[in-house]
Amino acid sequence: MSPATDRSAHRKARALKTTSRRPAKELCSECGLCDTYYIHYVKDACAFLNQQVEQLEVRNHGRSRDLDNERELYFGVHQDMIAARKQSPIEGAQWTGIVSSIAIEMLNRGWVEGVVCVQNTPEDRFQPKPVIARTPEEILAARVNKPTLSPNLSVLEQIEQSGLKRLLVIGVGCQIQALRAVQDQLGLEKLYVLGTPCVDNVTRAGLQKFLDTTSRSPSTVVHYEFMQDFRVHFKHEDGSTETVPFFGLNTKELKDVFAPSCMSCFDYVNGLADLVVGYMGAPFGWQWITVRNQTGQEMLDLVMDQLETQPVMSEGNRHKAVQQSIPAYDKGMTLPMWAAKLMGVVIEKIGPKGLEYGRFSIDSHFTRNYLYLKRNHPEKLEAHVPEFAKRIVGQYKLPE
Ligand code: FAD
Repeated sequence: MSPATDRSAHRKARALKTTSRRPAKELCSECGLCDTYYIHYVKDACAFLNQQVEQLEVRNHGRSRDLDNERELYFGVHQDMIAARKQSPIEGAQWTGIVSSIAIEMLNRGWVEGVVCVQNTPEDRFQPKPVIARTPEEILAARVNKPTLSPNLSVLEQIEQSGLKRLLVIGVGCQIQALRAVQDQLGLEKLYVLGTPCVDNVTRAGLQKFLDTTSRSPSTVVHYEFMQDFRVHFKHEDGSTETVPFFGLNTKELKDVFAPSCMSCFDYVNGLADLVVGYMGAPFGWQWITVRNQTGQEMLDLVMDQLETQPVMSEGNRHKAVQQSIPAYDKGMTLPMWAAKLMGVVIEKIGPKGLEYGRFSIDSHFTRNYLYLKRNHPEKLEAHVPEFAKRIVGQYKLPE
């Protein structure tokens, strides 16, 4: 269906969306597609109704990932991978601001006319407010993670209405999978996709529970990250940093905090973006860049002169730690803080680093999510878990 011949379907869908339908029900990740008239593509497009990562990889990257190559099995189709950080970091960015810098360059050089990104509401620094940014200032206002489910695709209708032809979308895996499924309906001449990895996202209420349970001062947290040193780093308004070891998290309390969509997700590494900027495959303090295709390489080239880079590295062996953590997490075990701190110090010294840390995190989350799906949505298990994830999970012994 072309955009021009699609109007009556859009009108019907507009009537539908006013009823706030969420066909994926509790598995909805609030990506925003169902807030637009593109809701009539939802059965095909929704990452939780129709898992189609492999087909979309072929359509967007020209091939699907090579399952016999361990790097591709874990990190998806790619032609290059580096660790990098900005020589002059952007103040207030989540890491050093590589994502915002690429978006600004693309806008300034006229590659795109707008950038889909997420600012926050004036009342709440963590409440997402998706926008189509048209100026560098608007892109900068979207820097730093809003660590909650964000309806990024709710702005898609504005694209057609405003006549935009060249667009950059920044987003996480579930948003990008739905976007890729409808991209040909948007009337664009060129779409660029800049992704971030994503895991364990939460609703705004869930975020509050996480902050209240974990931080010494929940109301002053401006930024947090689960870091490669096995600690959560909270940054507070006064500039101070608070660290809490992963092993000291109140697993019992926090078990229900993550959104069911995130507990059912196997696209941690954002396999359908052109370029992905995260951190978990890089040494501590560095960002991790995965170039999936030529478009992604061209986007990265725009900021190479602003970056310090190094090759990716990999150290350690994750398998034992992952296997031991599966029943511990399942039973909601929490170590006393002194033991958690000690464990954190030991594992930081001898634990997995670089790409092996990335694989540790993927293994831990995929095994947990596989169990969640098996117990809560057994009818979806076969079709919803992609082949690459089945192979990864298959390395471990899981409880019933
Ligand atoms: P900045 O320049 O600060 O820009 C951040 C960009 O993120 C902005 O453009 C904004 O539009 C976008 N954004 C903010 N909140 C959201 C949201 N809720 N949904 C979609 N887009 C958003 N990396 C890993 O390696 N492992 C992880 O487990 C991981 N989890 C993440 C979970 C979430 C919810 C998000 C948003 C990101 C996650 N990342 C993860 C990516 C990482 O935290 C950084 O965002 C990334 O390295 C870019 O840093 P930066 O300084 O270049 O970004």
